[in-house]
Amino acid sequence: MKKTRDNIATKLLLTLAAAVLITFQGFSQTKANADAEKAIFPKGEQGPASNFTGKAFNYGLVANDSTYNTVVGNVLFEPGARSNWHRHPAGQILIITAGEGYHQIKGKPIEKMRKGDVVKCPPNVEHWHGASPDSSLHQMYIIPNTEKGIVEWLQPVTDKEYNAFK
Ligand code: MN
Repeated sequence: MKKTRDNIATKLLLTLAAAVLITFQGFSQTKANADAEKAIFPKGEQGPASNFTGKAFNYGLVANDSTYNTVVGNVLFEPGARSNWHRHPAGQILIITAGEGYHQIKGKPIEKMRKGDVVKCPPNVEHWHGASPDSSLHQMYIIPNTEKGIVEWLQPVTDKEYNAFK
């Protein structure tokens, strides 16, 4: 008799566990679909671990040439992902099209970026940008005057630096 009761209890527990699992799967699929619907451009190619912490995907929109001397593209940062510290010899303009992220100039506090924000990174200033811990970031970038150079990569943004956002 006890064994039958235990079996019923086990079955109930397994059913409950399955229901919870299905609910969470449904939730994460909905979130993934919502993220995909936010995207204007294709995801692109994953950036190298030597320049990024976490997963960041780059999709080129305007390749560099001697007529425009400008590079335009889109980066999708997954939650928690960010660039290394770096400099652009002629500066950079960021346009946030979806999600939420962080931007920091060396020596200054981290600033939050949201959909619709436009951020200027001045020439030769050490900085980084990326997603916030619980949101992806869809970020267009424009690099002008590429005859001066495009990007100089530096050291990774440590967890301590990244988590310093207040
Ligand atoms: Mn930059």
